[in-house]
Amino acid sequence: MFENDSSGSALPEREEPVCPECNRLWKVYALATRKSLDAIMTKEAAAQYHDVAGVKILHEKALEATQWWELARKAIRDHVATHAGEKPPS
Ligand SMILES: [Zn+2]
Repeated sequence: MFENDSSGSALPEREEPVCPECNRLWKVYALATRKSLDAIMTKEAAAQYHDVAGVKILHEKALEATQWWELARKAIRDHVATHAGEKPPS
């Protein structure tokens, strides 16, 4: 069981005219998603083989990857918000 389950966290739809920054952020996010899934799956595999030391190390890695993923997700949200807000330059 993981406390860092990512249920019910919907991202805004990817917009049609993709700006370079959106593109970049989505790529980072996709990579972060894969890394965190990899880390969690590797940890689960270690747990199945009762590799206690391995699980401990992999738990840290999974946490790190999840934090990176959260940051990437937040970056997209923040950036997309600047699109929607149409904030005029001060
Ligand atoms: Zn953008």
